[in-house]
Amino acid sequence: MADCLFCKIANHEVPASIVYEDDSVVAFNDINTEATTHILVIQRQNIATLNDIKPCHDQIVGEVVRRAAAIAAERKISAGGYRVVFNTNREAGQSVFHIHLHLIGGRSLGWPPG
Ligand SMILES: [Zn+2]
Repeated sequence: MADCLFCKIANHEVPASIVYEDDSVVAFNDINTEATTHILVIQRQNIATLNDIKPCHDQIVGEVVRRAAAIAAERKISAGGYRVVFNTNREAGQSVFHIHLHLIGGRSLGWPPG
């Protein structure tokens, strides 16, 4: 999608603080950082929401989740704990319609989230 912010970030058309990328996955610091660690992990492929996930996406979803865990390990927040969130559609706070995983950690997190 030509007008998708996260596609543009993945294609280096919009600057972002990229912390990891390979042929299928890109991770970058969230602009609205509230936690010590708040990183977004996306697949390069544009899939709008979790509602659009099909069996053919199982591998890429797995890669996104596994990359989040790897970044948490690099940041040394694995043992203390971190949270992974996929907001889906507007009432959940999704503002960019390209599936993205929020990796949040490095501080105590309340439960349940708001
Ligand atoms: Zn996109």
